[in-house]
Amino acid sequence: MITINEHYLKLQASYLFSDIAGRVAAFQEKNPDKDIIKLGIGDVTKGLTRSAVDAFHKAVDEMADTTTFRGYGPEQGYGFLRDAIAANDFQSRGADISADEIFVSDGAKCDTGNIQELFSRDIKIAIPDPVYPVYLDTNVMAGRTGEFAEGRFKGLVYLDSTKENKFVPSLPAEDVDLIYLCFPNNPTGSTITREELKTWVDYAREHKALILFDAAYEAFIRDESLPKSIYEIEGAKEVAIEFRSFSKSAGFTGTRCAYSVVPKECTAYDSKGNKQLLHSLWNRRHCTKFNGVSYPVQRAAEATYSEAGKIQTRALTDYYMKNAELICKTIAKLGYEYAGGQNSPYIWIDGGMDSWQFFDMLLNKTGVVCTPGAGFGKCGNGYIRISAFNSYENVEIAMARVKEALS
Ligand SMILES: *Cc1c(COP(=O)(O)O)cnc(C)c1O
Repeated sequence: MITINEHYLKLQASYLFSDIAGRVAAFQEKNPDKDIIKLGIGDVTKGLTRSAVDAFHKAVDEMADTTTFRGYGPEQGYGFLRDAIAANDFQSRGADISADEIFVSDGAKCDTGNIQELFSRDIKIAIPDPVYPVYLDTNVMAGRTGEFAEGRFKGLVYLDSTKENKFVPSLPAEDVDLIYLCFPNNPTGSTITREELKTWVDYAREHKALILFDAAYEAFIRDESLPKSIYEIEGAKEVAIEFRSFSKSAGFTGTRCAYSVVPKECTAYDSKGNKQLLHSLWNRRHCTKFNGVSYPVQRAAEATYSEAGKIQTRALTDYYMKNAELICKTIAKLGYEYAGGQNSPYIWIDGGMDSWQFFDMLLNKTGVVCTPGAGFGKCGNGYIRISAFNSYENVEIAMARVKEALS
């Protein structure tokens, strides 16, 4: 008899985006001539840069010619891309990361989801609330949690991100072994200072713990005092793995390219307490289960680091940041408290009522779609997330309507 992994039965069906779609469809049916503006989804909207597309085309042509054709590539990524990543994203900022510590992949979603395979089942895990659901669900699937009750899984340590701590959780009171952090944060848009991040690195060193640092939104950081990488913090290389993606920085959500950084010193322990290097474990896993990102996509990603590519890629995030600024200005004028919107494409708004109630009110009065914060965890209730991923023209219209309807 074939039996299933019953941990899957503990998963909470994510109704968030289907629920939103259902309510939007119902509204549209009742108001067929009302124009709906979506500021809900965490997906980019602008086209790829000229540099990326030119490199993409050129690489496709190389694939068509037997003399320049490439078959299976190195699973960890081509040297040209790993070199460009190490030099531009780390060494240029004083973070001592080398090309062979970079593992190119097809997504930070897959990487943040797959990494837990390296750890034993009985570790204590700390997960932020609200949270990007991948960290949580992949550990549920692996059997590292108990049942779901009253909005939370048993056996996990939740790190509350609230107004009181400015959406940067404080260190857990109990000992934990694995810690998920994401800054700039999805969904709260909050950022972490060097000093705050150092307290986490120090905690991990002291407790022989590991930090999984999701930096998918680092390209939106404009305040130079904020860390873009956890490796800008002294001592982080032994205790942290970092995840990055070209999805939000260069508009690659449909093109697919990301990477993980696993420094050679990064350490975990076997059951006898002996040190084990995570670089070799992840390399083994990656080579066994992953076939590498396609050659043209890696060339397109490499092109984001050329002189012209850097300028064009920066212009993409600048564009969304202008949207974020307008959203923040409007929301502040209306007297709402909010986080994010600076150094982040997300604005996390205290709606002063139940998340879904605010969602319905906003949709009915303005035709603007947001994301109810309750969908990201218990601490998200009462909040809504507005995303800057849309055209400036649409954001202008949306904010004019919001101003009029909620004043
Ligand atoms: C969008 C996003 C990612 C990037 O995922 P990809 O799979 O690389 O597209 C990673 N982490 C968070 C928190 C995100 O919101």
